[in-house]
Amino acid sequence: MNTQHIIDALESVQAAILANESQIESLDRAIGDGDHFINVRRGCDVLMAMRGELVPLDPGAAFGKMGMKLLSTIGGASGPLISSFFMAMGKSVGGIAEPDRRQFAGAFAAGVEAIKSRGKADLGEKTMLDVLIPVSRLLQRLAEENAPLPELCAQLTAEAHRNMLATRDMTATKGRASFLGERALGHIDPGSKTCEVAITAVCDTWKETA
Ligand code: ADP
Ligand code: MG
Repeated sequence: MNTQHIIDALESVQAAILANESQIESLDRAIGDGDHFINVRRGCDVLMAMRGELVPLDPGAAFGKMGMKLLSTIGGASGPLISSFFMAMGKSVGGIAEPDRRQFAGAFAAGVEAIKSRGKADLGEKTMLDVLIPVSRLLQRLAEENAPLPELCAQLTAEAHRNMLATRDMTATKGRASFLGERALGHIDPGSKTCEVAITAVCDTWKETA
């Protein structure tokens, strides 16, 4: 994975987020305050606008720069969380010109750990972590096993989808939806949906490079 791959993946994430606007919007309107889509779109726009600055950097520096920028641009609870994800990924692959799949899996896991500690949340709390944690575990296992890229991508996409849907049957113990108690049941967590859309988009770009 080099910085150009990361930029290509971001482009694909931005397009996928825009294509899912109405669903992401309505989920946060149902169990949050309705700003999640706007927050995420702003994050995508700002990352796309800095493409030129990222090109000469190695992946670690590029992720770090993206994280810093996101911290000052995305609002809400998700801003600092997504920012900490990028910064921890950057730190994990710092100085490596082309991280291999295992190193990327390690970086993803470090990013997820950063979200857990920043948000003081874990599995089963109806947040983005309900998609990110299982996907990260599966990515690490498949990278260890050296699974073929198309299979790895297909499995990660399916895992993200399944776990995103599972948030529908959870009550929230973190974030704004936690104020709703049982009324949050029956609604997918917006952050989980965003993560599923983003992971699917990254996998779609990634498998093309196989
Ligand atoms: P806000 O809740 O401040 O309006 P957003 O609407 O942008 O921020 O993001 C809401 C999403 O953030 C939720 O759907 C959930 O997935 C995620 N989230 C909220 N709190 C936490 C937390 N403590 N840890 C992990 N994710 C969280
Ligand atoms: Mg919100």
